[in-house]
Amino acid sequence: MSLAGRAVAPEAVAAAREALARARTVVVFTGAGVSAESGVPTFRGAGGLWRTFKPEELATPVAFGRDPRLVWEWYGWRRAAVGRCRPNPAHLALARWMLARDGVTLVSQNVDDLHERAALEAAGGSEAARRAEPIRLHGSLFHDQCTRCTWRARSHGSVDATSVETLPHCPECGGLLRPDVVWFGEMLPVREVERAFAAAGAAEACLVIGTTGAVYPAAAVVHEAKAVGARVVVVDPGETEYDAVADVRLAGPAGQIVPQILP
Ligand code: NAD
Ligand code: ZN
Repeated sequence: MSLAGRAVAPEAVAAAREALARARTVVVFTGAGVSAESGVPTFRGAGGLWRTFKPEELATPVAFGRDPRLVWEWYGWRRAAVGRCRPNPAHLALARWMLARDGVTLVSQNVDDLHERAALEAAGGSEAARRAEPIRLHGSLFHDQCTRCTWRARSHGSVDATSVETLPHCPECGGLLRPDVVWFGEMLPVREVERAFAAAGAAEACLVIGTTGAVYPAAAVVHEAKAVGARVVVVDPGETEYDAVADVRLAGPAGQIVPQILP
């Protein structure tokens, strides 16, 4: 049965608040669902398809090798779409909470920049925003990397996908740039994975928001936290792979629930 229709019990809200207040260390794990209320197009839902292509046909090294212009056109469209979105109350409440207390590590599978923008907003544009930035396991829609050398940086301006020549090129070596995202079949960034699993392995609570938990190895962050005894709180209106390990289960939209459960 779908959990979506059930109301969120006040006892569950109280239990989540207590688990998060009591924990000295918390790992927060987010997926596409935390950005759903911001209007970020999902991969699978309505509006998730770009023209008639499936993400699996575009977000791969093979697709990029075959037709970099097409893949960049898609990323240009996604950057523009995400650029029009704003952080929602879940992103903002999380950012404020992380600025206000120690011991919270945010790990995200998302490639949008809504956690970062919420952090900046919550910190009033100051350096302190860094405290609330996520560890990005799947890279960033708004960063480029060179296909030939090690150059990588935040992207600037829009993408001109008229031809291969007009695509972004490396300022160091002239090589073709690609989006700095983890594509299907690629390795996750080693340092980020190490940091995420270190935080999970030391967590007394684990807050999971808007992810089915089906994409590995990222999804194992929650199982790692559970294995060391963390209390697991899951916020998601649909069924997830974590429902069996959740100590507290809140079935509802993140923007509504997350601000209520952060103590
Ligand atoms: P998913 O699509 O597998 O699952 C999304 C989850 O969000 C579902 O369980 C759904 O019930 C839940 N959800 C829907 N609306 C919600 C809401 N308002 N509040 C809370 N939860 C809500 O996404 P995933 O588990 O993140 O895995 C998909 C992969 O696709 C990831 O690797 C991710 O990198 C990528 N992706 C990222 C973005 C993004 O950056 N915003 C968008 C689409 C896909
Ligand atoms: Zn280069």
